Amino acid sequence: MATTRRLVPQHPRMFRAHVVRAERVSPSIQRLTVTGADLTEFPWQGYDHWFRLFLRLPHQRDLRLPEFTGAQWWQPYLAIPEEERPHCANYSVADFRPRAREMDIDFVVHRGPDGEIEGRAAIWACRAVPGDALAVLDQGVLFDCPGDASEVTIVADETGLPAAAGILRSLPRQTVGRLIQEVPTRDDRRVLDGPAGVTVSWVVRQDDTSVPGTAALRELRRLTSPDAKGYAFLVGESALATEGRRHLHRAGLPKDRITFSGFWKHEAAEAA
Ligand SMILES: Cc1cc2nc3c(=O)[nH]c(=O)nc-3n(C[C@H](O)[C@H](O)[C@H](O)COP(=O)(O)OP(=O)(O)OC[C@H]3O[C@@H](n4cnc5c(N)ncnc54)[C@H](O)[C@@H]3O)c2cc1C
Repeated sequence: MATTRRLVPQHPRMFRAHVVRAERVSPSIQRLTVTGADLTEFPWQGYDHWFRLFLRLPHQRDLRLPEFTGAQWWQPYLAIPEEERPHCANYSVADFRPRAREMDIDFVVHRGPDGEIEGRAAIWACRAVPGDALAVLDQGVLFDCPGDASEVTIVADETGLPAAAGILRSLPRQTVGRLIQEVPTRDDRRVLDGPAGVTVSWVVRQDDTSVPGTAALRELRRLTSPDAKGYAFLVGESALATEGRRHLHRAGLPKDRITFSGFWKHEAAEAA
């Protein structure tokens, strides 16, 4: 029913870009719209298309980027001396308008214990002004729904919202299933364009101190008998992805019908 091919580029290409505008679209999401001379050639596939984002370091005036491309980008990247190596983080295409040569990137604004914005990419995005340089290395799509899937189940925390929104927008209109989407605040909810048969359940975190993804996982665990011919896509904080997969598999969904990805790791879990 809902079918996609897993398209991971064999020779990923790097695109240089710069910021056109910045907007706080909701309390926890900072959206940057970026453009670049060759961005019309970005091979956007819809769904959860993601990329590696390269940014200048705080002490640098400009982004210094060697021309690396292809599957072996990692070695040349690591060969750059640490004090000059651009920061690299993973992001999803929130929207793409090839004619206008514009890409939207939604950055989750997350905060530390004293309320200060945390995360190198998030801090950069919150301070970005038109003209600031960045680069994106195409990584393709993770969503890999088999053609015979009877239903789709998508579960995400806020870092997976751009991916989940992109998947809903790209799914064939006859698709049925559900999205369980966790967000930090009520005002981070928004209308998502998607098939009428895919229900959207917003899970708003009740407690600032709870680990993101916990509430979505709790909601997913209420699903005790998923259709064994379905497909699931679980992304967000690492425990949501791994525990969500464990739950669905125990409940009867075969492992090869589950795509899961830890988009980030909570500090406490990381320390452990
Ligand atoms: C395929 C893929 C697609 C992704 N798409 C998006 C996207 O579209 N938008 C998006 O915002 N993120 C997305 N992420 C997650 C993003 O890559 C991570 O959140 C990343 O850590 C952000 O980089 P940073 O430089 O800001 O944080 P870092 O400097 O790497 O992290 C600093 C600290 O912040 C913590 N941290 C990181 N993210 C969060 C968070 N969301 N909430 C609370 N604490 C956090 C880390 O644990 C760490 O302790 C995606 C990840 C993957 C793998």
